[in-house]
Amino acid sequence: MSAPQFAADRSLGKLAKWLRLLGYDTLAQRGEEDGAFLCRAQEDDRWLVTRSRVLARARAPRTVFIENNAPRDQIAELFLKTGLSPDIRLVFSRCAPCNTPVEPLAREDAMGAVPDYVYSSQERFTKCPACGRVYWPGTHIGRALDFAASALRGGAKGGLRGCQNSITPDTRLCSKP
Ligand SMILES: [Zn+2]
Repeated sequence: MSAPQFAADRSLGKLAKWLRLLGYDTLAQRGEEDGAFLCRAQEDDRWLVTRSRVLARARAPRTVFIENNAPRDQIAELFLKTGLSPDIRLVFSRCAPCNTPVEPLAREDAMGAVPDYVYSSQERFTKCPACGRVYWPGTHIGRALDFAASALRGGAKGGLRGCQNSITPDTRLCSKP
């Protein structure tokens, strides 16, 4: 089974970065119009994650309407509502700012690209082929997993209210079935 993919609307930029740190292919809406964004999400069969009632009204097959404000609560709400859970094998496989899968980087090539204390304390490094950012999984994996774990422990505040039911469907945003 392939990993779920997400599309996060423009109000959920931080959540999009956290989803990428957890390893999920996550499309972010930037200047794009709602209709174009929705179509792109549907073409890729992504979960649409939104705080926009306009987008939620489009009733794409897999839409999650997010009610929480803090990214930690939003992660918890998203996993609760989709029934998904974080997969440790995916964590840290993707660049957070640009969504590109990262590649292994030889340790000697990381010298100078990361702070000296990081270079001397870490064994494994990865690099984003698109933007050149260098990552060291040791600390980042721990941070991402701690974040997800604490989010899931805490649960989402009001995350399971059935608010999608109160939204009137509007299927005009994307003409694709
Ligand atoms: Zn990158």
